[in-house]
Amino acid sequence: AHLDRIDAVDGAVHAFLHVDRDGALVDAADSDARRARGEARGPLDGVPIAVKDVLATRGLPTTCGSKILEGWIPPYDATVVSRLRAAGLPILGKTNMDEFAMGSSTEHSAYGPTRNPWDLDRIPGGSGGGSAAAVAAFEAPLAIGTDTGGSIRQPGAVTGTVGVKPTYGGVSRYGLVALANSLDQAGPVTRTVLDAAMLHDVIGGHDPRDSTSIKQDWPSFTEAARAGATGDMSGVKVGVITELAAGSEQSGWQAGVMARFQESVDLLVEAGAEVVEVSCPSFVHALATYYLILPAEASSNLAKFDAMRYGLRVTPDGNPSAEDVMRATRDAGFGDEVKRRIILGTYALSSGYYDAYYGQAQKIRTLISRDFDAAFADVDVLVSPTAPTTAFKLGEKLDDPVAMYLNDLATIPANLAGVPGISVPNGLADEDGLPSGFQVLAPALADDRVYRVGAALE
Ligand code: GLN
Repeated sequence: AHLDRIDAVDGAVHAFLHVDRDGALVDAADSDARRARGEARGPLDGVPIAVKDVLATRGLPTTCGSKILEGWIPPYDATVVSRLRAAGLPILGKTNMDEFAMGSSTEHSAYGPTRNPWDLDRIPGGSGGGSAAAVAAFEAPLAIGTDTGGSIRQPGAVTGTVGVKPTYGGVSRYGLVALANSLDQAGPVTRTVLDAAMLHDVIGGHDPRDSTSIKQDWPSFTEAARAGATGDMSGVKVGVITELAAGSEQSGWQAGVMARFQESVDLLVEAGAEVVEVSCPSFVHALATYYLILPAEASSNLAKFDAMRYGLRVTPDGNPSAEDVMRATRDAGFGDEVKRRIILGTYALSSGYYDAYYGQAQKIRTLISRDFDAAFADVDVLVSPTAPTTAFKLGEKLDDPVAMYLNDLATIPANLAGVPGISVPNGLADEDGLPSGFQVLAPALADDRVYRVGAALE
């Protein structure tokens, strides 16, 4: 049914870069056979899933939305992908994304944009717009995204889907093509909080192949979501982040988004939660900090696309040197946003500027973590709107990188500090009838709290 749905709507939505019809049908048939024998591998055995094209899939193309990886077929699966397969989830295909996960609209994909199923003239968020749109358009019941600065949560908010960024180290990064190693996390993209929790239970947990993977037993997130679904929030203390609220220094919040936010806060109060306002003063510097640390890490990661190891190779005429081949390949293979960030990151890391930019950003990153520590000493979870506005029109922010970056104002602090966050749909903004999202953040390792509070809002 999902493959039929993809055939019917993906021409317009363009959520997928690659659909693995045959593979998904074989896996679905295997799952049916297991179920018939009473040997299902778990509750999600047989439930199809879409995977963002930044995760390595054995035998299936993995492009990261870039021309530089066109035609590359990984010889191995990312750990997230092998866990999906082991749990019996048929993989429908690979979803569209901003090139190397840089963007907030999926317009930076080298293969053309994805469109928001709520309004095809609007963006589905980014960088994981393909995963969010696939779930929102009923092309897939579940999807995997990755979130480095908001790429699961912000697309969730603008497409009316649920998106979770787990605690850094909670889900393996093995086989996830790195944008920024210290910020990246893969996580669930779903239609309900319970679905996200069940999926997180499948993909999470320690992996010896990722040196930053946390070695501990995690609680059942499914149980946490079920507990929250009872709607009882008594004993839960919720902090509204002052710096991410209307009228704050970082304005630009849409009135309809703020109205829905206030309504969700009121619902939590009605459910018995105690709500207070909490100031996180360093959050006003989060965006600037992120846009030094991220390009620095990204410029270093992207150095491996050198025309020798993977994908595209452009050989100029004449008698080109290896460096000529590299230059021509990177020039043709990378898009403008990727080049912009390579230049920014290389500059921030260069001798003479390193201390002033990268070093300074690392210090502010510590201050942001301390703001979280201080806040969580007093409250169980922090909340804010996920994104400042609903989905904007395609093309609207394409020529203005800073306007594009501002979409992640509320999501970036969690990545800098490594804490978990969820975006839960909380209704439609009055002025445009488009979805908005409610963000819940919890201390590192306390991912169960985002499921509990998230589920209470459904
Ligand atoms: N929009 C942010 C950026 O462009 C976040 C990207 C992400 O989370 N992958 O960097």
